[in-house]
Parts: sequence; structure tokens; C-alpha cells
Amino acid sequence: MPEGPSLRKFQLLTSPFVGQAVAKVGGSSRKINVNDLNALRLQDSQVHGKNLYLAFVAAEGPLGPAAEETVLRTEAASGASCPAQGGQEQACAPQTHPQDVRELQHSQPEVPDAAEGLGNWLRFHFGLFGSVRANEFSRANKANKRGDWKDPIPRLVLHFESGGFLVFYNCRMHWCSSPRADPTSDILSAEFHRGRALDALRAPDPICYTLLDQRYFSGLGNIIKNEILYLAKIHPLTKGSLLASSDLERLLDCAVQFSSDWLHSKLHGKGLHPQIYQKEQCPLGHAVMKGTLGPSGGFKRLTWWCPQCQPAVRSGDGHPFPGTE
Ligand SMILES: [Zn+2]
Repeated sequence: MPEGPSLRKFQLLTSPFVGQAVAKVGGSSRKINVNDLNALRLQDSQVHGKNLYLAFVAAEGPLGPAAEETVLRTEAASGASCPAQGGQEQACAPQTHPQDVRELQHSQPEVPDAAEGLGNWLRFHFGLFGSVRANEFSRANKANKRGDWKDPIPRLVLHFESGGFLVFYNCRMHWCSSPRADPTSDILSAEFHRGRALDALRAPDPICYTLLDQRYFSGLGNIIKNEILYLAKIHPLTKGSLLASSDLERLLDCAVQFSSDWLHSKLHGKGLHPQIYQKEQCPLGHAVMKGTLGPSGGFKRLTWWCPQCQPAVRSGDGHPFPGTE
């Protein structure tokens, strides 16, 4: 699934549409009634970890009082340090004029979910090939198993009053009252809490399990995990408790640096060139090992490592990974 840097890019694609009303909707989603979004105004866009959140409010005419209010609220929300609070306040907005919305939508009998108290934030969680596009549709870049060249089917298409549009692929959506925001665990946030992350890494668990724990490393996914363990020269199954503080600090530096570099290259339209992820050789020409690693009973992920560049750390009893084999 897309990791933190991709989500940031998705958010940047949506931001030019903030303040605009939805003129037409489309898409195959059955999780939400996409028609509920008709005539609502996109009010805010935020990213937290691997989730994108879009806030919608009832839209009136461009000169109506609600439109002015919306602009003011948008400005306040973008400057607010606690978006969750803003979100709750804004949740009331669609309830203020539900009749007006219905009138605008003429024959539309449905009341937006937002007005039913489910909240006015739409949360997007992306699947493996999930993506957001602005003013373009995704095209098939290869034939499927039957040999057909079928373009991916969007889950949601939002056409805005400006004529531009946003397309969302391979994602799950649901309405919520506010974004679940904790910038202190977001590796791409200036408020990322290093101390708490270091404490988590010190746990006597294999380091590659801890890195994927979204409570401490929100936005960090399997690609980042593999790459930073290679960069920091740490074997994925090394227990955090066996590593020196300086090693853990270096790993954290790699996590932050790699993620922001990845975001930077994304924003310049450049792809990622992994050193170890899905590779057969490391950059030094050593044969790479591959394994499916994860906690027992938990989610296991394909992991690549170089046994020469990332040697196993032995514990006191000489066994490299006690309890993991
Ligand atoms: Zn190597």
C-alpha cells in the first residue's frame, strides 16, 4: 500500500480543490453513497500516516453567507494546530442547512451522511495499487491475464465547479467525525517524537516488526522498512534491545531522511530506486536473502536483506535470533 511520502503527494494533488464545490460525482464505491458528495464543498485536506482525510461541508451559491463562512473556516482550519478540534466544529456545518442542500440537489432525496451525524470527514485508506490523480484518469499500462487492456476503475471521481477533477483508485472510504491525527508518530511531520520512537525501538522484539508499528511510525511501510535497515546495516530480525543507542539513532535518522528524500523525488516526478527491496543483489554485489517476517499471529511481510552488509547480532547465548526460529 502507498506509504507516507505517497500520501503527502496525494494531499498536494487535492489541495488546489479546497474551497471548491463538487459539481458531479462518479465512481464504483459501494462503501459510501457517492451521490452524497454532490453539491458539497471540499473544505480541508489532511494526511495522517497512511490515511488521507477530506472534509466536506454544505455548499451554497458563491455569494451566499455559507460560502463566506466556509472560506473563513478553511483559513482557520489550515492555521490551526489541532485539526481534530476544527473538524468537530465543522461537523456541525452541514446540519445547519440540510434543507438548502436538498433544494440545491433538487430531486435528490438522500441526506448526506455528514448530516446524519456520521461526520463530515471522508477517510481514504489505500490498497496496494491505490492512488489519487488530478485532472487525468489512470490508463492501463499492460494487458490483464485475459489479454485485455482495461483501464483501472475509479472508486470515486469528484468533478469540481472549476472544471477540474480528482480520481481515487483502489481505496476504502468511510465517513468519520474527525481525522485520527497524531503528528508526533508521523515520520514526515516536524512534530515527530524521536524519544518515543527510540523507546519503541529498544523493545526486545525483532526490529523489523517494531518499524511497522503504526503507533510509533505512522506512514512507515514495507519499502521504507527494508531500505532503512539496509542503509543502517541492521539485520531485520535483530532485537532492538541488543542494539546500541547510537545504532538506533542512526536507524531513526535513516527513516526520517529516506522518507523525506522519497517525498522530494516524488514531488519532482522521479521514481524510487531501491537498494535492497525486491533485489537479488545488494549494491555491493552480494546475494540478497528474502523471507516473510512478522510477529506470530500478526501480519507477515516480505523482507529482503544482505547477510554480509547486515550481519546478525548475536545475543549472550550465541544464538542469533532466540525465539524467532
Ligand atoms: Zn551486501
